[in-house]
Amino acid sequence: MTFSDFNLKDTILTAVTQAGFKEPSPVQKEAIPLVLEGHDMIAQAQTGTGKTAAFGLPMMSMMKADGSVEGLVIVPTRELAMQVSDELYRFGKLSGLKTATVYGGTAYGKQIERIKQASIVVATPGRLQDLLMSGKIKLNPKFVVLDEADEMLDMGFLDEIKNIFTFLPKERQTLMFSATMPKGIRRLAEEILENPKTVSITKSESTNSKIIQYYYVVQERERDDALVRLIDYKNPDKCIIFCRMKKEVDRLVAHLTAQGFKVSGLHGDMEQKQREVTIRAFKSGGIDIFVATDVAARGLDVNDVTHVFNYHIPFDSESYVHRIGRTGRGGKSGEAITLVSPNELRTIKRIEKDVGAKLITQVIPTRIEVQNSRQDELIAKIANTQITDNAIELVKTLQHDLDIVTIAHLLASMIQNDNAVKGKDIIGLGLEEVELLIERAMQHRGNDRGRGRGNYRGGNRRRNSGGGNRNSRNGRNSRNGGRGSQRD
Ligand code: ADP
Ligand code: MG
Repeated sequence: MTFSDFNLKDTILTAVTQAGFKEPSPVQKEAIPLVLEGHDMIAQAQTGTGKTAAFGLPMMSMMKADGSVEGLVIVPTRELAMQVSDELYRFGKLSGLKTATVYGGTAYGKQIERIKQASIVVATPGRLQDLLMSGKIKLNPKFVVLDEADEMLDMGFLDEIKNIFTFLPKERQTLMFSATMPKGIRRLAEEILENPKTVSITKSESTNSKIIQYYYVVQERERDDALVRLIDYKNPDKCIIFCRMKKEVDRLVAHLTAQGFKVSGLHGDMEQKQREVTIRAFKSGGIDIFVATDVAARGLDVNDVTHVFNYHIPFDSESYVHRIGRTGRGGKSGEAITLVSPNELRTIKRIEKDVGAKLITQVIPTRIEVQNSRQDELIAKIANTQITDNAIELVKTLQHDLDIVTIAHLLASMIQNDNAVKGKDIIGLGLEEVELLIERAMQHRGNDRGRGRGNYRGGNRRRNSGGGNRNSRNGRNSRNGGRGSQRD
């Protein structure tokens, strides 16, 4: 199936081709025909599944570009407003459709000017309500879209949204998009939609198959070490670490900064300006790691996030889906990594069931494994280094007292020390331990058969992770061949 199978206007179709879209995404396949037929719609699909085009293309295809505001898109945050606006502009420019972006924290004047020239207004609820209530603008759109509706409700915008609708015409086509469908969303849908069609990109489709999901079982006190080790090992380009509490965000930012990572926290109560500066630094690579709470990351729309870490497993499956959806966007692959303590294994199993995906359990690589996996990089780096005059002088001086092989060993040791992987060698539970714990957790309480075979403590950790395991056996078995003694 291609985009030309839909009944889209030529200029819209050309813009889609120019944008490089080849195949419509699942939500686009289902939503576009329904919108073109004029239905109200409520669609459930995770972030990164192409919802903007799902409503934008059919809506714009039906617009006249007559100088009036024909479409209104309401989104939770300023960043999303800009993002959606850019994407819509890209699709609409050949059709003469201008977009205006409306959000709080800036002057009214320019925004109002833009609105007067626009066919589509993309707005955050607060500022939009201000403009409508003060009579500064009047809108008569044929299309109204609520994007990321669940996030808007979570952010407390329900009253604003209801109020905004009192200013909008009764004759309209209304579309609602949401990653999750809690009661509040369904109730709002009943209020603002008329005979809506439902689109649900559910379960197996909804967890983006491009995201590989891993979990690691660690003791509570090992979380920090485990996190640092995994970052060292995975070497992510850009990652987001999710915590449950703001306090934890601050603590982790300090901890990771001290380890030399380029890291910043993202707070719910950050000033908008500061938030934007931080996000820009993250996008451009000045910051590699974001530590955030669920609330703070709402509406955060950054492409190229390679890894999402759950420092703690989220309380519910919906947050899990939201969080991991920050990676694997726009057809790229991503990794989601969750740290759990043994008594959180039940939660993992529940999430697997809810999201319809398998989470793979892995063992945290040992220090030696990570070090070895870095060796090749190091060798390449040494080979590619330019020899400087100062270096030649330094070696000459050293040669007064030392022979050349000793000098080489000393310099290599110095580099190795800089490059050393920190922390204890073994972190977290081994696979056999995890398997037994899962078995136990899944058993009925009265039937505690697992206890009979406590010998797993002495067992070796079996690996299922590839790569970097040169010498791993030595590293591991040198410790009594068992872990029980060192953990307890
Ligand atoms: P959502 O609103 O569901 O989070 P977006 O609409 O922001 O998702 O789309 C995510 C990314 O995927 C954007 O960069 C967008 O340009 C891209 N995209 C959307 N649909 C397609 C498609 N059919 N083919 C290729 N890329 C797409
Ligand atoms: Mg979107």
